[in-house]
Amino acid sequence: MLKEIEQLLPLQEIDQEIYSLRSRLNEFPPQIEALVQEIESIQRQVKDRLNALEKNKIQHKELELELGKKESDLKKHQAQLFQVKTNKEYSALQEEIAKLKEEISSLEDKILDLLDKMETEESEVKNFSLQSEKKIGHIKEKIDSLKQEKNRMEARIEELSEKRKELASAVDPKLLEHYERILEHRGGIAISPVGKDGVCGGCYRSLPPQVLNELMLGSKLIHCETCGCILYYREE
Ligand SMILES: [Zn+2]
Repeated sequence: MLKEIEQLLPLQEIDQEIYSLRSRLNEFPPQIEALVQEIESIQRQVKDRLNALEKNKIQHKELELELGKKESDLKKHQAQLFQVKTNKEYSALQEEIAKLKEEISSLEDKILDLLDKMETEESEVKNFSLQSEKKIGHIKEKIDSLKQEKNRMEARIEELSEKRKELASAVDPKLLEHYERILEHRGGIAISPVGKDGVCGGCYRSLPPQVLNELMLGSKLIHCETCGCILYYREE
């Protein structure tokens, strides 16, 4: 095997791992962001439901106030019954009293319905909040494990980069530059094996027979004309 290939192969192995780690690393931020958004959406739902409960409470307070006012009006009117002078005034007052009593009874019904609704909704919201807390807990665990995985990968990349530096220092700078250009262009693969079948391992195209012959001789660097990879012969 050519000395150049012997030098580049271990480098290629490391670079390939670095490339695949980096491409995986790129997936982390959107994944984490999506999970954070999931948490925010759950929190918003809980907040909306708590707000709805608050609205019920306000409505309840308003109804109680209205009821109190009507009850005091009723008392006032009932007291006035003893003070009116004419029959006409008396029956007008009685009519007013009957109307108030009806309104009071309908208000009382409304309040009871609302209290019922509040009780149901409060227990539903309590359940929903508990479930939401659990869900959020799970999502936070997922985020933590993604972050840990990310840290591990970053540490591995650092480790590989150190090794790479060492290996790269032994390679002729011009060849290294050439190799790195192909590497960047081809997304992490610059060297491809070619077997007896004469197929390039980088692009899976067949090489002309005389190129395969030259490769088997192993006397100079040969590139694939299709994908640009540096080729080497590897018996399967
Ligand atoms: Zn090729």
